Amino acid sequence: MAKHIFVIGGVLSSLGKGIASSSIGVLMKEMGYNVIMQKFDPYLNVDPGTMSPFQHGEVFVTDDGAETDLDLGHYERFIGTPLSSRSNATSGQIYERVIMRERRGDYLGKTVQVVPHITNEIKTLIRQMGKKDDDIVITEIGGTVGDIESLPFLEAVRQFALKEGRSNCVFVFLTYVPYIKAAGELKTKPTQHATTKLREIGIQPDFLLCRSEQPFSNDVKEKIALFTNVSPEHVINAIDVECLYEVPRVYIKDGLHKMICKQLQIEERPIDFSSWDKIIDNIKNPDKDVIIAVCGKYVEHRDAYKSVEAALIHGAAGHRAKLNIKWVDSEKTNCPEKIAEALSGVDGILIPGGFGIRGIDGKIAITRYAREHNIPFFGVCLGMQVAVIEFAKHVCGLDDAYSTEFEEHCKQPVICLLDDQHDLELMGGTMRLGAWDCQLKPDTLAMSIYKKESISERHRHRYEFNNDYRELIEKAGMTISGTSLNDFLCEIVEIPTHPFFIGVQFHPEFKSRPQIPHPIFFNFVKAALDRHYTAKSENK
Ligand code: GLN
Repeated sequence: MAKHIFVIGGVLSSLGKGIASSSIGVLMKEMGYNVIMQKFDPYLNVDPGTMSPFQHGEVFVTDDGAETDLDLGHYERFIGTPLSSRSNATSGQIYERVIMRERRGDYLGKTVQVVPHITNEIKTLIRQMGKKDDDIVITEIGGTVGDIESLPFLEAVRQFALKEGRSNCVFVFLTYVPYIKAAGELKTKPTQHATTKLREIGIQPDFLLCRSEQPFSNDVKEKIALFTNVSPEHVINAIDVECLYEVPRVYIKDGLHKMICKQLQIEERPIDFSSWDKIIDNIKNPDKDVIIAVCGKYVEHRDAYKSVEAALIHGAAGHRAKLNIKWVDSEKTNCPEKIAEALSGVDGILIPGGFGIRGIDGKIAITRYAREHNIPFFGVCLGMQVAVIEFAKHVCGLDDAYSTEFEEHCKQPVICLLDDQHDLELMGGTMRLGAWDCQLKPDTLAMSIYKKESISERHRHRYEFNNDYRELIEKAGMTISGTSLNDFLCEIVEIPTHPFFIGVQFHPEFKSRPQIPHPIFFNFVKAALDRHYTAKSENK
């Protein structure tokens, strides 16, 4: 049976439970254990794919096409293992399943209740994770202790641990120890109270990860330990770090991995952290600079672009470059003066994915600027569609080129919904989701980036390049360098006469890893660096 680590949060939200869980994942993985991760989201939404990026940030997509919480992106980036739809469940989905069963009469008229029906369903989901060769299952419970919504999950894991025993289950509790300036002290009371709340539910945490801005002394540790019924060495000072990928190091320093192994009665193995140290060093000690403009409508809500930002960080770190992102609000950047001002001095322009018409004209104008000024350009999903629209409009002379997403009956729909006659069951009003194979054309930028003929990338979109315009657009100088295996769907476009201009219908950012930056992001940053340093030497 797999061993289980449950990560629960207390005191307040936004303490980085996803990063803490992922970092524990790194410890176990780097000791050579097979790790799988899972997140429970206590909200009632059934479909995280329809949740507003304003509130919830990015929708992360797995290979099997699940639209999930963005924490799964952290998990994949830290433990390096592709996850599936099994790794995320919301209260809404769990209740829906139980209610469907009730409607089918599966409960034979018995009273259907949170305990045991919902809690049993949760336990089943936890058990399902620890199959095959998984050694360690890490389960993060969303929300904060004290929330009404997370109670069924806490009750379920309490029951689970009672059944499986404490040598098979570890509870890690993430809390906060604030520094009160006026008193000049670190305060342990919020951690004490939150732990009391957890113990009232019947869960005694084994480890406390106490976030704090300042390092704390042994006295503080001992005080926390005494009041929370945890041994002092199990109280870890999870001090703030400069770079996300340093968090596992903080835990290693306090021996968390050793203590977890001891409790789970598994062999403690040496940790090889060298590949992480290298990437941390690259991020913290860059020897060059690069400025990338990311132009979208959620620039005030950057969680909406979490994986894009992470992939840019990986790409820059691969060149030991300091990444400076200039967030450009496409809605406010729509006239030539504003565009020139916003983009002056940037080395590369990225248009990320998105839905809806808001900010589209700005994105088209920004893309035009990138094309005409030879600034490295990278369009992701909607960004690729915008690149096609812009090229059709200003190079092919199709003045009315647009996407039917923005104007259903537009005259020149270069991007549109494809109809069912093409035998694509996922088309129509439904999203194309998850991993799709794509074949690359020889002697193209795409091929030189990927260095192979066939790739697989994750999708999340409804609209597609309209094949009726394929010939015209290709003749005018935009190359379609990647297509679906049947050659029917256009997946990648590029402009060979431009120093670096690429648009992809998929979301490569989901597959970027700190140690293995995604090749498009890596090469995009390289093109931007080339421009940065050429422009500088030309100005000398
Ligand atoms: N809105 C576009 C579509 O649905 C692009 C989606 C995206 O960028 N993820 O096709």
